[in-house]
Amino acid sequence: MKWAVDAMLGDVARCMIILGEDVLYRSDYSGVDLARIAREEDRIFLTTSVRRFPNPPDTAYLIIPMSVDSLWDKLRFVKRRFSISFKVENLFSRCILCNTLTTKIFPDKKPAEIPQKVFMEFVLYQCPRCKKIYWKGGHFEHTKKKLLEESILN
Ligand SMILES: [Zn+2]
Repeated sequence: MKWAVDAMLGDVARCMIILGEDVLYRSDYSGVDLARIAREEDRIFLTTSVRRFPNPPDTAYLIIPMSVDSLWDKLRFVKRRFSISFKVENLFSRCILCNTLTTKIFPDKKPAEIPQKVFMEFVLYQCPRCKKIYWKGGHFEHTKKKLLEESILN
């Protein structure tokens, strides 16, 4: 599924990208712009307020009520509503900065921005768009554990 996420739900957008979902999130877009792009790109619009969303019948959308206030509750709310599961294998498959799918890279020389230890021990992934390099180190295990504990990951 593809999503467009309201500026009010930045934490949800970021976490859904970490979960490998295709998320359009731009805090500088108006609700009107986001709704239009959601319609054009066949994205489900996640919002906290229907007032930010001009033409509800045109696009699939979900209002996350203000009463659902923790990040984990919001993610579980989205999961339940669409009967979806987030898979471990998709975790950290996208660039957190720009939502692009990353690809494995095998550089001969250590890229300047990463530590030697990481270069020796981890498979590297790179965003083809913004060139940011990722690896599945301690932060990966920590995030995975938390997402499993909170029943976000399946
Ligand atoms: Zn990127």
